[in-house]
Order: sequence, then structure tokens, then C-alpha cells
Amino acid sequence: MKILNQGKVKTVYDAGDGRAIIEFRDEITAGDGAKKETKEGKGSINAEISARLLSLLEGNGVATHFQEFQRPNKFIVEKVEIIPVEVILRNIATGSLVRRYPFEDGSELSPPIVEFGYKNDDYHDPMLNDDIALALGLCSREDLTLMRGEALKVNEVLKVFFAERNIILVDFKLEFGRTRKGEIVLADEISPDTCRFWDKETGDVMDKDRFRRDMGSVLEFYSEVRRRVLS
Ligand code: C5P
Repeated sequence: MKILNQGKVKTVYDAGDGRAIIEFRDEITAGDGAKKETKEGKGSINAEISARLLSLLEGNGVATHFQEFQRPNKFIVEKVEIIPVEVILRNIATGSLVRRYPFEDGSELSPPIVEFGYKNDDYHDPMLNDDIALALGLCSREDLTLMRGEALKVNEVLKVFFAERNIILVDFKLEFGRTRKGEIVLADEISPDTCRFWDKETGDVMDKDRFRRDMGSVLEFYSEVRRRVLS
């Protein structure tokens, strides 16, 4: 199969007929790929978590690229052109937000903050405002409004879903794609690589921050997220 895109941790193949296959690999990276390791089984864990969450969102009125989960580590998706805008939603201030602004780490953000970033490793995914996104020709103002609305909708569904599983949904990053018909749908993945999850009881970090901050037990916590997501 022809490779459409070889990303840092996923490979996208052309499956013909307007469809693509996404393969979740076992690499884990941080710092725009500067730090990299392979963790056997990580790809299948993220694929399974992501499949469950994208199906849940579809069932709640969010249009996504997801079509079918192929065990252990592949998705069949509608082929889309990824919009190079990362949509970040934050319920709790932490990470890059507290490095850039005087928010107290761990403080609640109500209403949540939606941020746009330019998906570009060479420039370290800098924050975008509407005018910059438009001037770079990344998408239209209407597209930004739509993505923002969808991100808030995703948050409403996932926040409740995770709370029922004793997990605080701290923040997450979404990507959107344009279908052949020009519709914008939620794409990519939703997993411990792209979200922050904190255990509601213990405060344990259950996401990629364990790798970023050398906290150890990365796969153990990813597996625990999978166990709760599938429960
Ligand atoms: O690093 P920062 O605090 O901006 O990250 C916010 C959220 O977006 C985190 O859940 C992080 O995992 C996710 N993110 C991502 N990919 C990026 C940037 C952020 O998945 N390129």
C-alpha cells in the first residue's frame, strides 16, 4: 500500500476508494521528536483507546474520520486532508500554559480555554490567532469557528466519560481534516499521547507527561487508561 504520510508515531496508507489506514506504531516521542523511544505494545493501546473514544464521539454527534478498528493497531478512516492547525482545549492550567502565562499549575479553567497552534515541528507548533492562520492560508475564519465549537462539544462528552472512570480530563489536542466533499471532520487520535489524564483519587499522571518528565511506568499507566476506557 502506498504511504501517504509517515508521522512520528503513526503511518498513514492509502487504502483506495476514498479510505486510508492508520497504523499506530510503538514509538513515543517528546520535544518535537528530540526525545524518542520504542515501547512495545504502545501502538495497540493507543489505537484501542482512540477507537473507543472516536466511536463514542460519533455516537454523540461529532463527525469524525473513524470507520473501523482493525486489531491490534490499525484504523480504517475516511481519507482527509489534515488542516495544519492543532486545537488545544484546557480544563486545568498546566504544561505550556503555565510556562507562558501566570496561571497557577493545577488551577481550574472555567470556562475552558481553546487555543490554536500551527502544526509545524520546525517552528515548534507556535500559537496562532485567527489573523495569522488566515494569512498563512491554513484555513478560513469559519473553519476556526467550527473547530472551536467541535472542540467544546468533544470536551463536554469526554469530560463526563472520564469523570465516570475516575479520571480528570486536564487538557487535550485535536486535529481536523477536510473530506473530499469539503466537510471538516475530527481526525487523528485521542489517546494518552494527546491528552493529559490525572487519576481523580491519587492525582497520578496517566499520560505522556510520564515520558516527557521521566516519571517511569509509562505503559503501565497507558494500560490502566485503556482498562478504564473500555470498562
Ligand atoms: O504542552 P501543552 O501544555 O501545550 O499541551 C496541551 C495538550 O495538548 C496536552 O494534552 C498535550 O499532550 C497535547 N499536545 C499534543 N501535541 C502537541 C502539543 C500538545 O498532543 N503538538
